[in-house]
Amino acid sequence: MRGCAAPPRHYTGELRIGIHSSTRGGLVHAVTNALDVGAGCLQIFTSSPRAWRATRHDPAGVLEFRRARDKHGLAPLVVHTGYLINLAAAPGPLRDSSIQAFRGEVERALMVGAGYLVQHPGSAKGSPPEVAMERIIRGLIEATAGIRGSGLTLLLENTAGAGGAIGRTLEELAVLGQVAAPHLDFPLGYCLDTCHLYAAGYDIASSEGLARTVRRIGETLGLDRVPVIHSNDSKGALGSRLDRHANIGAGHIGAAGFRHIVNHPKLRNKAFILETPSEDDGHRRDVAALKSLAHRKQG
Ligand SMILES: [Zn+2]
Ligand SMILES: [Zn+2]
Repeated sequence: MRGCAAPPRHYTGELRIGIHSSTRGGLVHAVTNALDVGAGCLQIFTSSPRAWRATRHDPAGVLEFRRARDKHGLAPLVVHTGYLINLAAAPGPLRDSSIQAFRGEVERALMVGAGYLVQHPGSAKGSPPEVAMERIIRGLIEATAGIRGSGLTLLLENTAGAGGAIGRTLEELAVLGQVAAPHLDFPLGYCLDTCHLYAAGYDIASSEGLARTVRRIGETLGLDRVPVIHSNDSKGALGSRLDRHANIGAGHIGAAGFRHIVNHPKLRNKAFILETPSEDDGHRRDVAALKSLAHRKQG
């Protein structure tokens, strides 16, 4: 059914742990980097996330990337959109650029063979939230109009809620998805970021808080519409609205919190993608940490 995210196809019973992988030096490097730290799936940018000017990929590089990913069975492939895009922007040049850039993101995600494209809903910047939400919905529809392609699901990501960011609450995300989905030619789902959830006030660090939050996700978004979880520890405290990612175990969610998360029976089939600091071999340590936590009993 159009507008309905299919259950993840990559589920094989094994926990899927991936990283946001650097494409520096060419797309294929993202595959090499992911394999190097023991990841089973990956997320990439297909263009510089802080520039409007889109990267042009040569077809040979794209083919090399697609072949390498296929060969090593890294799935799913997630693309994250650039940070400058604000689909909630008021009519004007920023809105025009945002819609054009988002359109480019969708086209490039299809070109690289991504299963998911993750987008932050947008920032109200002083406008009333309901006005911002309507702009986001119209923006998604306008930006994707007429693009043909299959296998790609658009995912709206929850936010920590700083500075008028829309999508701090599950209810807000649900409204965006439910209103937009019937008008889109691509299925629409959600990506949940653990750091953003925690900073937004969802206490997923405790087992009771996680159980409550997972129940709420089921009631608002539908768990089958959340195929990807950005697995980041949080430098900010509960409800701080601070969007600062920490390595696993180095933040307020902590290793104990992530043990509950990766072992929650309703989350086992998700793709867990790390967007944690990569310095000092951070990704290798975080992949290993999640794997080892997943094998231990919850307690
Ligand atoms: Zn994000
Ligand atoms: Zn994220």
